[in-house]
This record gives sequence, C-alpha cells and structure tokens, in this order.
Amino acid sequence: MNIRENLESALRSIPGKVQLIAVSKKQNHETIMEAYSAGQRLFGENKVQELVAKASSLPSDIQWHFIGHLQTNKVKFIVPFIHMIQSIDSLKLLGEVDKEAGKINRVISCLLQLHIATEESKFGLDLQEAFQILGSAEYKAMKHIRILGLMGMATFTEDKTLVRQEFGSLRDSFIKIRTVFFENDNEFCELSMGMTGDYDLAIEQGSTMVRIGTAIFGVRTQPG
Ligand SMILES: *Cc1c(COP(=O)(O)O)cnc(C)c1O
Repeated sequence: MNIRENLESALRSIPGKVQLIAVSKKQNHETIMEAYSAGQRLFGENKVQELVAKASSLPSDIQWHFIGHLQTNKVKFIVPFIHMIQSIDSLKLLGEVDKEAGKINRVISCLLQLHIATEESKFGLDLQEAFQILGSAEYKAMKHIRILGLMGMATFTEDKTLVRQEFGSLRDSFIKIRTVFFENDNEFCELSMGMTGDYDLAIEQGSTMVRIGTAIFGVRTQPG
C-alpha cells in the first residue's frame, strides 16, 4: 500500500477542476500524514469524536469536511474548525450550525445532503424537503451558514445504469435548486458525489467533488 502513489493515480483519473476529498475515517494519524506529506489537504470524516481528536493533533492547514450523519448536540464540537459540513439533512441541524457558528463569529460552508439511493438506510432530504428548507423564513434569517451545493450517495451496487440514474437525478435537483433559490449567486456551485466504486460515473454526471477513501488508503478494517 503506497498512499502517495494511490493519491497520484486518483488525481490523474479525475479532471483538474474536480476536488478530491480524501476520506480518512478509521485511518490513524500516521496514515493520514502520509497523504498530507504527498500534498493532500482536503480530508473527510464521518464521526465527530474521531474528527475532533484528529483535528487537534494533525496540521492546522488541513481542511476538514464532515460527511457523516451529524447530531445537533455534537455540532458545537466541530464548528470551531470545520471547513465544510456536507451532510445537512434537516432545518433543525442547519439552525444549530448557524447558532453555534454565530457564537464564534464564523460562517460555515454547508451542502444539503439529498437522498438519491434506493437503500433506505442512507440519510438525506428529498427534493421537496430541500425546497421547504430553502424557502423557509428560518433559513433566510441565518447569517452564519452558507449553502454551496448538494451532496449525495448512490446505491451500493454493481448496476451502473442505476448509479448513473441516481447521480443524474442529483444533478437535476442541483440545477432546479440553483434556478429557484440561487439564480444570482455563483457560490452555489458544488455537487459532491462519487466514492471509490463509482466516482467515474459521478464525474460523468457532473460531480465537482469526489470523496475517496478505499482507493487511497486501502480497505478499512471495519465497515462504515
Ligand atoms: C466512507 C465514505 C466515503 C468513501 O468511501 P470509499 O468507498 O472508501 O471511497 C465517501 N462518502 C461518504 C459519505 C462516506 O461515508
């Protein structure tokens, strides 16, 4: 396992304008530092406790992306340093991020997570719920968050037609939301989709940000 080589080959396989988030969940500090030494600065984590421990002991110029289900009572632990929260799946969560960010005068970049997979276990909003959030007075009053785009996970399957369809539907939702709520706002520009097994299809469907763990760090010892 040569992390530098894996990173270089992942970077070669994606267009230059697509950002690569190295998903470092369940990887130890030494492993993450190998990727860091190879030049990687964007990392993704899905557990608050694990992320807080890593962020406090790893270099401060790492840009941490939160990509897992986030409980409102844990928002305060990541708000001081998080670069982007990709997994906003309720108005309540967004409100909590806004409140905590306000206390320390930060503005936190967020993505709305949309549910596109056929699997029920995956979190996320449907398009109608996203419209409700963006149309709400509560959202419009928030000063300490900014929504930069959407995130989604496709079904875990070999069926490329299905995965392509799911990524295509996320791209369509992105365009609808941009047209209705962000017409004169170029900040709404990120479409985070694609993991090790499906990032080629995601890029084909317009991804601007891929989240890759296994292809960089190898197979994780525990699932999740
Ligand atoms: C684990 C995870 C990834 C990366 O998965 P790989 O298959 O290891 O590339 C991407 N996105 C989310 C939300 C994840 O939880």
